[in-house]
Amino acid sequence: MTRPAVLVTNDDGVRAPGLAALARALERDLGAEVTVVAPDREQSGASHAMTIRSPLRFERVAESWYSVEGTPTDCVNLAIFHLLDERPALVVSGINAGYNLGEDVTYSGTVAGALEARILGIASVAVSSAPDASAEDLDAVAAIAARVAAEVLARGLPADSLLNVNVPPAPRGIRLTHQGRRAFREGLIERRDPKGREYYWIGLAPSEWEPDDGADHAAIAERYVSVTPLHSDMTCHRAIPVLSAWGLERLVPGSSR
Ligand code: MN
Repeated sequence: MTRPAVLVTNDDGVRAPGLAALARALERDLGAEVTVVAPDREQSGASHAMTIRSPLRFERVAESWYSVEGTPTDCVNLAIFHLLDERPALVVSGINAGYNLGEDVTYSGTVAGALEARILGIASVAVSSAPDASAEDLDAVAAIAARVAAEVLARGLPADSLLNVNVPPAPRGIRLTHQGRRAFREGLIERRDPKGREYYWIGLAPSEWEPDDGADHAAIAERYVSVTPLHSDMTCHRAIPVLSAWGLERLVPGSSR
């Protein structure tokens, strides 16, 4: 079997330990030909942002390792359309330092790296760990990610899907899940600077989840690996029959199709 070409990216930046652990495991366990193309600094929360108002620059930092002045989405584009000799068989994004569960997938640069690959027609997996994962934990997460990646390479993914994989420390097993929903999150964390002026942190306060046994957060809470198939098509298919009954054609009179 020829060595599969695998692109690895992340949103924690090119020096993140999770990135190196992932690249190592994919090389070792899959015999993959791994190219790493990652942001030059942390891009957590960058979501699916694309740099379109300034030029994109990169630096080769080691053999098959590139650092990009941009987002995970930029990295995937630069890799596929410029840096790689061939289209990769798979793109793996991570290992993110911190889970990507529920609606957090919409803020995640890690998930966006995988989503961009999917949009470009390449199978992809996003991988996240506990925020405080140790070096040994990251190696264990990477080994599980490599097993999932091998499965994806062997079988291919269903059309339009990518996998969002979250791995707790010392998992008891693995579960296929769906994206959960946040019930509640404290809005803001307020602090004061040395001059007494208030400032704020958003998105970092603890959250509570809507109870849901089949959700990604429930798997993590019970110390199971969570594998959620995601979609690049954001259409809410369940809403179409409801909206169809609204009779929207009344709002803009014209000939119907
Ligand atoms: Mn991150």
